[in-house]
Amino acid sequence: MNATTLPSPLPDSPFSSSYAEARDKFLAAAQGRGAELDSHLHPLTGFHGEPLAMDVACLGDASSPRALLLSSACHGIEGYCGSGVQVALLNDAERCRRYAASGIAIYLVHAINPHGFSFGRRVTEDNVDLNRNTQDFTAPLPENPGYDELAALLVPDTWPPSAANEAAIADFIERRGLAAYQAAVSGGQYRHPEGLFFGGHAPTWSQRRMREFLRAHREVWRHLGWIDFHTGLGPNGHGERICANRDDAAALARTRAWWGEGVTSIYDGSSSSAPLTGLLWLTVQQECPDTQYTGMALEYGTEPVPAVIDALRASSWLGVHPDAPPALQASIRAQVRRAFYTETEAWREAIVRQGLAAIDEAICALQVA
Ligand SMILES: [Zn+2]
Repeated sequence: MNATTLPSPLPDSPFSSSYAEARDKFLAAAQGRGAELDSHLHPLTGFHGEPLAMDVACLGDASSPRALLLSSACHGIEGYCGSGVQVALLNDAERCRRYAASGIAIYLVHAINPHGFSFGRRVTEDNVDLNRNTQDFTAPLPENPGYDELAALLVPDTWPPSAANEAAIADFIERRGLAAYQAAVSGGQYRHPEGLFFGGHAPTWSQRRMREFLRAHREVWRHLGWIDFHTGLGPNGHGERICANRDDAAALARTRAWWGEGVTSIYDGSSSSAPLTGLLWLTVQQECPDTQYTGMALEYGTEPVPAVIDALRASSWLGVHPDAPPALQASIRAQVRRAFYTETEAWREAIVRQGLAAIDEAICALQVA
């Protein structure tokens, strides 16, 4: 047994223990709800040889100028959370009836990054962090000297890391502080293709598919809301509402009008996320320039930052050591899953409750937009 074949939480749970199970549950729930389905097949196959796809289900009137996008697995393995919320919504007959009456088109995008979801990794098939990948690759890319300094320590030759390696990382945190360590590691980097939070050297398959999907609706959508489900930052079970937009005061004010004053920003230090560039949602304004866009990342806490970073270090190490002993591979996969998904009913219940509440609020806001 490994992290991709854990037992299901409960027989009728919306959550899953593998990508294939999550996809089956999503497609069945969407069909049961009479949703229109559109599947974008990935050129590669999954961890168990299964097909991979970005599946899009549309609830409601696809010609509506008001649309809400609900997406999972931008960061692969984080899809266990977002997929669970999507299936919970589709299984909620009363809610779906209410949403249908609102006249708003709801697009559920299942597994933006299906490869990472299936392989239990945060990155895409090319080791790219999809939320650092929206860059102009013909222009100079952002520099990250802090990452350059840490690169060899973060993905060492051996795993588990040596005592000297641990001491050197601890020394960096001691000297610069945990926030500086988090910013250096997670801020995104474009020089170390086998490292963590690598933004790539070209748009990935997932970014290209999302752009096509957005472009196909640019003439229809006047108002678009987007909730992108993430995990791995903040207190366990708490969903932080992070404004998913450009550094723009009007967009932040609108996001807070939709989802409350508690909405945080990565640009002013109020979010538990470090400042970032290359975010996937920046594609909306590029592909749908005439659409008023309001979005947030709903970021659920799991484990403390150092534990999450250590899991990603292990995952990156495994990425370049695919011949590691099977027991070590299994333990790293389990460590990564723990870092992005808490295996308790209390956590899952908190995820769904906060997710559905945020969707309710978005529907209310769109109705008067
Ligand atoms: Zn994420």
